Amino acid sequence: MKTEVFVAGGGVGGLMLAAKLASRGVHVTIAEQLTKESPVYKGELLQPKTLAILEDLGVIDEIEACGHVLDQLRFQEIHRRPHQTPVEINLTELDYGRVASRYDHSLMVPHEKTKAILRNKGKSYEEYFHYLKGARFLGFENGVAKVKQGKEIIYVEAQVYVGAEGRSSPTRDAMNVKVERTDYNHHFLTVTIPRPEDFTKGKIITTSTCFLGLFPLPDNEVRTVFLIKAGEYKTIKEKGLEYLYQAYGELEPELADGVKAITDWKTVQLMIPFTYHVDHYYAGNLAIIGDAAHTVHPMAGEGMNLAVQDADVLGELLAWCKEEGKPYEQYLHYYEDVRKPRVSFLLNLSHLSALVYSFRFELWRKFRTKAVQRIYDDDQLHVKQMLNIAGLGRWDFSLIDRAIQGSMLPARRKKVSDRKQQKYLFSERDDYPWRYEEKG
Ligand SMILES: Cc1cc2nc3c(=O)[nH]c(=O)nc-3n(C[C@H](O)[C@H](O)[C@H](O)COP(=O)(O)OP(=O)(O)OC[C@H]3O[C@@H](n4cnc5c(N)ncnc54)[C@H](O)[C@@H]3O)c2cc1C
Repeated sequence: MKTEVFVAGGGVGGLMLAAKLASRGVHVTIAEQLTKESPVYKGELLQPKTLAILEDLGVIDEIEACGHVLDQLRFQEIHRRPHQTPVEINLTELDYGRVASRYDHSLMVPHEKTKAILRNKGKSYEEYFHYLKGARFLGFENGVAKVKQGKEIIYVEAQVYVGAEGRSSPTRDAMNVKVERTDYNHHFLTVTIPRPEDFTKGKIITTSTCFLGLFPLPDNEVRTVFLIKAGEYKTIKEKGLEYLYQAYGELEPELADGVKAITDWKTVQLMIPFTYHVDHYYAGNLAIIGDAAHTVHPMAGEGMNLAVQDADVLGELLAWCKEEGKPYEQYLHYYEDVRKPRVSFLLNLSHLSALVYSFRFELWRKFRTKAVQRIYDDDQLHVKQMLNIAGLGRWDFSLIDRAIQGSMLPARRKKVSDRKQQKYLFSERDDYPWRYEEKG
């Protein structure tokens, strides 16, 4: 079988890439090993930059129709009290609206819904989009992709091969990249439960020893993420579901009833955070995107967004090469040039956010409460934080910023103007530089 671009893995990254390529008249063959929806919880928070990309692809209305809007993120510090309502110590609300962009919110969308929308979009370009279901990519044989679908072996010959297989990637193995993994002292339990209709804000509730992230989904559901010590899962399971009922009820009384909808540990997923970042994103005519190239700590809700954003840049580049009659292989460096520094930056930001919640003692909590509140009090910190996690731009934190956050310097009174922000928002030239550098 022949195609222009072969994509291994039909997750959110692979589907985004394939749909974009097909929409631009590039013939793409995508192999996905699964035959039905995956029961595994995965990223659901679509950041503003991802929404902009989905709008360009022409699927934003469908996405919005099955999403729950989050216009701010709340950070609530409390004192937990046995069988009583907690006492609030501090509440910080960070707004996406502080960023000078019309994409002023994020969206919670069930992962499989996002995938279905992208897959259907791809299929609407039937001449160019070839989806192999239940097809496992095994690796390369004589430079050609070997795929097993049922009992049949298919060889797919392409001009470019893209690995979008997630954490375990035969394409990455073939590229001979270096991968160094960082682990954390904590794990997460994650489960979706019902929520009251008026429980609509995303929030992170913390005490000196507990962390509960709550992210509302449509249909009156809420995705919950509960931090535990690394290795503690078995002990917690032995304590029974009562342990979760009590913890959730004491941290967020509004969910005391909803949490009882968990009747089986099977619905509670253990999530082990770790990070890695490969040293190169392409080799010859092979490239990797999404989790195949990097995995991020989930604290800042970036993983799925990085995959979609990789796919957008690579897709635009390959489509441009075809339109301009340029050899794909020679231009793949642009994909790495644009994406690798951005991903490094967000990996680091997520890592720092993870550290903020990694230590369980009161003094650390006091420091954290102040540091988070300072992000709100100092408008420049507020704008930087939201602009960066939104993926809409990059504005590095300076030593002065960190000193303000650490209360060594006072918060700045001045508001950041929209004009000043423009310098730090990604322009079309930042996203797709080859269009400008390779003219003529
Ligand atoms: C529990 C959990 C919670 C998360 N929460 C968040 C969050 O809140 N926000 C966020 O942004 N991110 C989150 N993430 C991360 C996010 O899900 C991933 O970063 C994102 O899904 C990466 O997309 P991807 O397309 O690169 O890989 P994946 O989503 O892993 O997709 C890879 C696809 O390739 C297929 N595949 C694998 N190997 C082969 C093969 N050899 N042949 C054919 N097909 C193959 C797989 O079946 C899968 O469909 C979470 C992840 C997990 C596990």
